[in-house]
Amino acid sequence: MTGKTLLMIPGPVELSPGVLEVLNNAPPSHVAPAFIEKFGQSLKMMREVWGAGAGSQPFIIAGSGTIAMEVAVVNTLAAGQRALVVHTGYFSARMAEMLRRRGALVTELSAAPGQAPSVEELERALDQAQAAGEPFHALFATHVDTSTGVRVEAEAIARAAKERGVLSVFDGVCATAGEDFKMEEWGADIYLTASQKALGAPPGLALLVLSERALRARQELSSAPPMSLDIEQWLPVMRAYEAGRGSYFSTPATSLLLALHQGLKEVVGFERFGARGAPARIRAHAQVGRAMRAGWSALGLELFSGSPEIAANTMSAVLYPAGVDSSLLGAIKKRGVVVAGGLYPGREQDYFRVGHMGYMVERPDLLLQTLRAVGESLIEAGFSADLDAGLNAARACF
Ligand code: PMP
Repeated sequence: MTGKTLLMIPGPVELSPGVLEVLNNAPPSHVAPAFIEKFGQSLKMMREVWGAGAGSQPFIIAGSGTIAMEVAVVNTLAAGQRALVVHTGYFSARMAEMLRRRGALVTELSAAPGQAPSVEELERALDQAQAAGEPFHALFATHVDTSTGVRVEAEAIARAAKERGVLSVFDGVCATAGEDFKMEEWGADIYLTASQKALGAPPGLALLVLSERALRARQELSSAPPMSLDIEQWLPVMRAYEAGRGSYFSTPATSLLLALHQGLKEVVGFERFGARGAPARIRAHAQVGRAMRAGWSALGLELFSGSPEIAANTMSAVLYPAGVDSSLLGAIKKRGVVVAGGLYPGREQDYFRVGHMGYMVERPDLLLQTLRAVGESLIEAGFSADLDAGLNAARACF
């Protein structure tokens, strides 16, 4: 841990000792041989973690998750093309707004806060548009919406889009390497994320993998995207680094790249349950998700995300119980743990959010410390939480 407090928000997250060590170095040149090698290896490891095919193209670009979303939007469609957005919270709404600003004709498929539209509703929306002669060019879904803790059924959504010839784009900022995703097998076209969540690196990198179909969609656009967001500008750079040559379009965030390289190495080298790599690490997130949900429930708390089947494994969105308000966050912080407030517009005061991803899957002790800080704070606020029951329920899952 870097400071006296434990950072348990849904990103940025606490970093592993290995990643912290890598960060403790001067930034290398973007054409230093050791840097070129690590850049190339990082691109290859992304394909592996994403479950992406050999013909897919990974991109590592300086920027945040929002930049990755914008890269996906502007390279997928131009003004006048139709997009369907599966709306599960604040970040899906952001994606819809980006698409509108690009001039796309946007339809949002929404559900009540804390819920997700069903796959049947999605298929109906796709089919009706097709029957009306106004088919969607692309659909956009947030794998885990960090404002609600809701996970969509990415496999069914990707398959439904593929069957109908619609491009599918998934925002995996709060999911990639923490939730199951098989890009090639499911036929997804873009899976994007940022460095600061389940990949266990600091904020500052926008990461995307594009399918061959998505690469073609860019070539077919009637108008080019803004230059710094255009994958045609970045493509030769990524190909050069993967082939072991330095290249330049815009200076890479070299220190962050090295941290990402270490984070990716820890994902692909992760061993548990007799398995290795991203599948094992994702299973570990599922176990942690179950443990945290068992803990919240035994403390007497309920989730903002309606049912356990759609609750994310990378984070929890937890409702304040009756008589408790957002002053709980200060009480938790007093106990050395930082968690986040609500983010769903209009419902910010109803719940709090806790991240449990990345390096945290190796630290059940710190997850229990978090549950303890929340439980003690609830008791201080006058809520009769059973602290031992909460801790024991979580412990039993490990
Ligand atoms: N999408 C999701 C699901 C997110 O959780 C976030 C960040 N919390 C973003 C997009 C935007 O990422 P950033 O803050 O790095 O721009």
